[in-house]
Amino acid sequence: MRQGSGDMGEQGDESDGLFSMGDLAAAASPSDAADGRRFHDEPRARRLLDVTEIYAEPAAADSLRGRQIIARFPEARLIETDSHWRIPHLHGNEGNVERWVRVKRETLVLGERKSFGIRPNGRSADWIAPGLSNGCAMACAYCYVPRRKGFANPITVFTNVERVLGSLGRHIAGVGRKEEPNQCDSHAWVYDIGENGDCSVDDLISDNTADLIRAFRRWPTAKASFATKFVNPDLLRLDPQGRTRIRFSVMPPEDSRLLDIRTSPVPDRLAAAADFLDAGYEVHFNLSPVVIRPGWEQSWADLLRAMDDVLPQRVKDQAAAEIILLTHNEDLHQVNLGWHPRAEDVLWRQDIQQPKRSENGSWNVRYRNATKAQAVDTLSRLIEEQAPWLRVRYAF
Ligand code: SF4
Repeated sequence: MRQGSGDMGEQGDESDGLFSMGDLAAAASPSDAADGRRFHDEPRARRLLDVTEIYAEPAAADSLRGRQIIARFPEARLIETDSHWRIPHLHGNEGNVERWVRVKRETLVLGERKSFGIRPNGRSADWIAPGLSNGCAMACAYCYVPRRKGFANPITVFTNVERVLGSLGRHIAGVGRKEEPNQCDSHAWVYDIGENGDCSVDDLISDNTADLIRAFRRWPTAKASFATKFVNPDLLRLDPQGRTRIRFSVMPPEDSRLLDIRTSPVPDRLAAAADFLDAGYEVHFNLSPVVIRPGWEQSWADLLRAMDDVLPQRVKDQAAAEIILLTHNEDLHQVNLGWHPRAEDVLWRQDIQQPKRSENGSWNVRYRNATKAQAVDTLSRLIEEQAPWLRVRYAF
């Protein structure tokens, strides 16, 4: 399968030039925010998400948010479902990637979130918030999000927004001020609001992301944070007032074209950084996942040099980065062999990987300790050489 071919996504439109800008970079200009056009109505957004059917739990369909979403997609067929977790012919790995992509593009699920626990993290964020979605319209070959429902995992939107905001508000009030700075943030408690999806894509569907961003404006001791691989200029309108950190995930474009299916090209993510900063976001970068393959060092050096070239000083002055080395998984490896074996040439490297029990008890595969330590050293040196302004928050 050719990466990015047909309706596989944005990446196939990108030329091989490291920094030839695609349509999305132009779409990210602040002028879009002023002329009333909304990106989620544009053909470029519809290539990613063109909803024709909505599975909904009855309570979710009846809720205000549910009705707003259903009204946004008036052509979509509404199908009642007992549980957003159990829709057998939607979830799972059966079939081929064309089917998964069609499901991701054309299907939404509406449900009510049942759990509202807030977990400590300490790496990317201080806390993991209960998210307002699960699933993603993109299809990165290394993604861990589908581990519970399978690769054909369309976006489930949770409609009981008030309960999630209520649990966040109580937690933030309960923990009080952050007394000691840590690598997550000097002053604010950082809450990751997008653990199981991509908040930029969720904003094409509903105001869930907007509601979270607006809520964090009211919480001076806290900050929202989410990683994204999608440039959505509609987010520029939300006036986060510095209380939301957007983390653009980047990797060498040649890796991204192979692995980041249906995402915005890496040059477009970098091109959007200044617009997001100017719109009131804190802008960080996730150097992730770092995939060790022949020539990876040179490719990362080129990417870091390109970041140094294209990012304006005001972005550099506030930027920080997370380094996240690839975590893979035997089940995902088997799935990928069926539809995208070229990805596995770089993702599955048993000669340098070892099994590791994850926090949730499943067995993953990570680079061996010595390999990983050496890779972190190498990347740290490359940052020092090519982008010394980039503070590394942590490496994992
Ligand atoms: S953008 Fe994130 S959540 Fe979506 S498929 Fe890629 S890694 Fe998974």
